[in-house]
Amino acid sequence: MRLDKTGTHRAAYERNRKRILKTQNTCGICGYPVDVTLKPPNPMAPTIDHIIAVSKGGHPSSLDNLQLAHATCNRQKSDKLYMHPESMVKEKKVIGNRNLPQSRDWIVFNV
Ligand SMILES: [Zn+2]
Repeated sequence: MRLDKTGTHRAAYERNRKRILKTQNTCGICGYPVDVTLKPPNPMAPTIDHIIAVSKGGHPSSLDNLQLAHATCNRQKSDKLYMHPESMVKEKKVIGNRNLPQSRDWIVFNV
């Protein structure tokens, strides 16, 4: 499965990535503002986070499964998912920058 590398998803992902950078300014993981002018390797640079990891069955390119996040938060989210899935789910509920209909599924996926 390399859905996110195929042409269709790649194009949709790029389109949605640009749209998110234009329309969102808050990190979906920590809830703080993101300065979209920052560039990697700045840890506060904007990245596009898959709300549900593609490896967990999340959509690779749908706008519904993508959110703005700091580079550092995105990386920490992966670490937390691996080590402490429950604490991450708890945080997600409290500080998400939008209501995520997937959050319940997300719990199921990670238990
Ligand atoms: Zn953040």
